[in-house]
Amino acid sequence: AKEKGRDLYQFYTEGMQDREVHRLELDRDLDQALAGDQLALHFQPQLDLATGQVGSVEALIRWHHPTRGLVSPGEFIPLAEESGRIADIGRWVAIAACRQLAKWSDGPLSHLRIAINLSGRELETGTLASQIRDCLTRWDVDPSRLELELTEEVFIASRPENLEQLRELHDVGVHLAIDDFGVGYSSLAYLRDFPVNLLKIDRSFITRVTDRHDDAVITGAVIQLSHSLGIQVAAEGVETEAQLSFLRNHHCDLAQGFLISHPVPADQLEREIRQGHFE
Ligand code: C2E
Ligand code: CA
Ligand code: CA
Ligand code: CA
Repeated sequence: AKEKGRDLYQFYTEGMQDREVHRLELDRDLDQALAGDQLALHFQPQLDLATGQVGSVEALIRWHHPTRGLVSPGEFIPLAEESGRIADIGRWVAIAACRQLAKWSDGPLSHLRIAINLSGRELETGTLASQIRDCLTRWDVDPSRLELELTEEVFIASRPENLEQLRELHDVGVHLAIDDFGVGYSSLAYLRDFPVNLLKIDRSFITRVTDRHDDAVITGAVIQLSHSLGIQVAAEGVETEAQLSFLRNHHCDLAQGFLISHPVPADQLEREIRQGHFE
C-alpha cells in the first residue's frame, strides 16, 4: 500500500509539473504573440432591438499559436493575469480597437461602437486611463465609440484610485459596461455610485429564460431596474428565437449571441453589414 501511495504521489506531481510547464510555456509564448502577428480581435455584433441594426460589437481576443493552434482567451487571459503580461495584452487590445474604429470612421460602419474587455489586473497598473486616452487621441477616435466591459467584481473590489481611472475615462465620453451581471457579487451600491452606461445580463440567465420562471423573473426585473436607473441593458448568449422574443417583449436594448452571430474577423463583419445580413 505504501508503494502504491508513492507511485500515486509521483504520478500526481508529474502531472502537476506538466501542467505547470505547459502554463509557463504558454505564458512565455505570449511575448512572441505580442511581438508578432499571432493575436487578432474578432467582433461579435450586438443587435439593437429598437432599430434592428447592429449598434455595437464586442471585441474578443484570439490567439493563433504557431504549434498549438487556436488558444482560447479563457485559457491564456487568466495566465497573463497571473504573470502580469495582461498589461501588454490590454495595451495591444486598446490599440487594435482604436485602429479598427479609425478604419471604420467613414463608411457604413462609422456608427459602430467597439466594446473591449478589461480585467481588474489591468486597472491596477495605474496607467490604464492615460493609455486609453493616448490611443483615442493618436487614432483620432471619438471616445464615445469605445466601451469598456468590466465585471461586477472589478467595480466592487477595486481600490478607489483605480476606479478613479474609469471615472476619468467616463468623463471624456468613454462608455462603461458591467459584464456577466448577476453571477458575481450581490452588491448593487456601485450602480448608484458609478456612472455605468450598459449592463450585460449573464448568459446563464438568458440560457433558461424561456424554460424557467425564476430566470425569466430575474431577467425582467434586471431590465426594469436598469431602465429605472437610466442604464441600457444587453443580453448575453442569445441562442434561440424564443429567447430573442422574450427580450424584445421585455424591452431589452441589445441582444448578443450565436443566434445573431458568432464572433467574426473584421473583414467578415464589414461584408455582412454591407450586405444587410443583420436586417
Ligand atoms: P466574456 O467577456 O463574457 O465574453 C463572452 C464569451 O461568450 C465569448 O467567449 C463569446 O465567444 C462567448 N459567446 C458569445 N455568444 C455566445 C452564445 O450565444 N453562446 C455561448 N455558449 N457562448 C457565447 P470567448 O471569446 O472565448 O471569451 C471568453 C472570455 O475571455 C471573455 O468572456 C472574457 O472574459 C475574456 N476575454 C476575451 N477577450 C478578451 C480581451 O481582449 N481582454 C480580456 N481582458 N479578456 C478577454
Ligand atoms: Ca465581455
Ligand atoms: Ca460576458
Ligand atoms: Ca465572462
